[in-house]
Amino acid sequence: MSGRHFLQIPGPTNTPDRVLRAMAAPTIDHRGPEFAELTLGILGSLGAVFGTTQPVVIYPASGTGAWEAALVNTLSPSDRVVCFETGHFATLWREMAVRLGLEVDFVPGDWRHGVDPQQVADKLTADAEHAVKAVLVVHNETSTGVTSRVAEIRRAIDATGHPALLLVDTISSLASIDYRHDEWGVDVTVAGSQKGLMLPPGLSFNAIGPKALEAAKQARLRRSFWDWQPILDANSRGFFPYTPATHLLYGLHEALRMLDEEGLPQVFARHQRHAEATRAAVRGWGLEVLAVDEREYSGSLTAVSVPDADRIRALILDRYHLSLGSGLGRLAGRVFRIGHLGDFNDVMLAGTLAGVQMGLAASGVPIDPGGITAALDRLQRP
Ligand SMILES: *Cc1c(COP(=O)(O)O)cnc(C)c1O
Repeated sequence: MSGRHFLQIPGPTNTPDRVLRAMAAPTIDHRGPEFAELTLGILGSLGAVFGTTQPVVIYPASGTGAWEAALVNTLSPSDRVVCFETGHFATLWREMAVRLGLEVDFVPGDWRHGVDPQQVADKLTADAEHAVKAVLVVHNETSTGVTSRVAEIRRAIDATGHPALLLVDTISSLASIDYRHDEWGVDVTVAGSQKGLMLPPGLSFNAIGPKALEAAKQARLRRSFWDWQPILDANSRGFFPYTPATHLLYGLHEALRMLDEEGLPQVFARHQRHAEATRAAVRGWGLEVLAVDEREYSGSLTAVSVPDADRIRALILDRYHLSLGSGLGRLAGRVFRIGHLGDFNDVMLAGTLAGVQMGLAASGVPIDPGGITAALDRLQRP
């Protein structure tokens, strides 16, 4: 098929040409001076994206690896943690915690809401002995298009006076949705390369607050590759304890430059506008957005409830060369997800929504064709 493929899944996202070009370069000696300069340059600007002046560790791994790193560096066998069933990714993180030997209190959810700060407070208030060592939150639940209000969750924890750590997954929100590791008092922020950061898959991150760094000294879960300390030691000189993913670091350097040029507030506002235009289209079609609380709408993606969603996605891929996200876990076949994050603009979104509208119509879904007009109306405003 001629023309560009539209990769509108909620990650991996479209890699900008500038990032691709930055990666098309010879490999350099990862123990030489040029490499040290690259690492130190990256580490000097990476923290701004997390809203932190604390260290950020980079792993040559998918986001799942950084989940594990956050747990094994801060916790000990049989430690109690609380997590919340916001969707598929929260469920996977829970399963990992169980496999690592943690005692997991999993608060059930309906996959349409984020974490309720009051429920966090209730859980911690009930834990007078401070058996709970960490609260795990997925900031943007990529399976549902629902965000959790991390600043409010932090305030709820602080109001109880409970010392539990707050570990937050920002894999599909970092560099797309407003996020502030330091200001919000997050102890470990987990992130990945292939969503808002506009890179190919393969890097992931832990931003580490002072309380987490202190906890790491006592934490007894087994760790070797994921251990923060050897990485922090080597990073201080611009190196890694093993062979790093050199080309992804070239790409990261360029992606950070692009985010800096646009400005993070502008990046967040762009994502929010695109999310609003997408919801306008969905409602204009007469369909339902899965997220129900307007305080929790995702800027990165929109999940659309529709029967027979996989058949619609298959037709759209076949006919329009446009990939949409599938329903995950208990939402399989019941939603499709439109990714509108990363390197993206108004006309790309208009094209995406036009493709979805044509695909819905061709699939025989009874829709109002006014959806696309509603989206364009939103896009015509700043
Ligand atoms: C994509 C994603 C993950 C998994 O990341 P991988 O890079 O696939 O390991 C975890 N959590 C969230 C919220 C995600 O969006």
